[in-house]
Amino acid sequence: MTKTNWIKIRRDLHQIPELGFQEYKTQQYLLDYLNTLPQEHMAVTTWKTGIFVYVKGVVGEKTVAYRADIDGLPITEQTDLDFISQHDGRMHACGHDFHMTIALGSLTQIVHERIEHNALFIFQPAEEGPGGALPMLESDEMKQYEIDYIFALHVDPNRPVGTVASKEGLLFANTSELFIDFHGKGGHAAYPHETKDMMMAASTFNVQLQQVVGRMVNPLENAVVTLGKMEAGTVQNIIPESARVEGTIRTTKAKTMPQIKESIERILRGIEERYDCRTRVDYGANYYMVYNNGIYVEQFKEAVTNSSIQFIEAEEAMTGEDFGYMLKELPGFMFWLGVNSPHGLHNSKLNPKEDAIEVGIEAVTKMMRS
Ligand SMILES: [Zn+2]
Ligand SMILES: [Zn+2]
Repeated sequence: MTKTNWIKIRRDLHQIPELGFQEYKTQQYLLDYLNTLPQEHMAVTTWKTGIFVYVKGVVGEKTVAYRADIDGLPITEQTDLDFISQHDGRMHACGHDFHMTIALGSLTQIVHERIEHNALFIFQPAEEGPGGALPMLESDEMKQYEIDYIFALHVDPNRPVGTVASKEGLLFANTSELFIDFHGKGGHAAYPHETKDMMMAASTFNVQLQQVVGRMVNPLENAVVTLGKMEAGTVQNIIPESARVEGTIRTTKAKTMPQIKESIERILRGIEERYDCRTRVDYGANYYMVYNNGIYVEQFKEAVTNSSIQFIEAEEAMTGEDFGYMLKELPGFMFWLGVNSPHGLHNSKLNPKEDAIEVGIEAVTKMMRS
């Protein structure tokens, strides 16, 4: 297949972004494409809106898996591209359209020029939430494969096309969402003593929350707690009965996460006591850290030497990825693929350079062959 076709496929997928576990059109598009390939050594199995594609190896002693996430984000695209998202308020703003296209590209090569190992391509739904990696990993469909190692990539807008980056050990943090509802008693702005002001409760919580990392977490174990949304009240002269805050927790050590949650709950018990209110905490989606096995990072480095792809030593980041769950159970690694966009991930103007698709296909296929 020529380069143009991959760009066309990427642009087709870019126009139909769908949210987690609703990737029906995306799944159908992928299945339609898979149908055009020679079926002789290939087995396709679906799981919810995801797909497993197994390609039997010539020797077949080992099974190497590559995972591509397939969901988009609830973002309204603000590019002026002529293949802009056709789904209102949805966008492939995290490059998962690239991840899928690269998987199809490598898969196509491997179906045509078979390799020594069995190859398993995993098209995983719901990476952005509620998290598809863990239920997929626990599914009977996935358990039928004996995977020796697994890898994945993520586009990196900050690095130039032609580069890949990874590192041994921690690549991405442990993450947890954080949603808290405060419930008190509303009333007239001039009669605060007759109310239980949830604006105050939520504000106090936010200030106290900032002490969790500063005073309750070991300074050598990095963590961040951020509230990104706060909601309370309707007009200037009513004290609100309820409030809601939304945020995220990120840690570089798995054990720090429950410690932070415990501290948050302790603060909330204090808030309940002080403001005579009720609170309810929900941790939403939780992702386990992406922790790379050094052996496979080294193998990847060797696989791309003597090619035009440049390997760069990566730094760890506080971003999260549900692929961490797969790496918790299976050896393997994740790497960044440079796509050089002035706008970052989850930005409504993200526009990765399409030349990176070929680089991604080459990098994935080289790792599959090694
Ligand atoms: Zn994302
Ligand atoms: Zn992503």
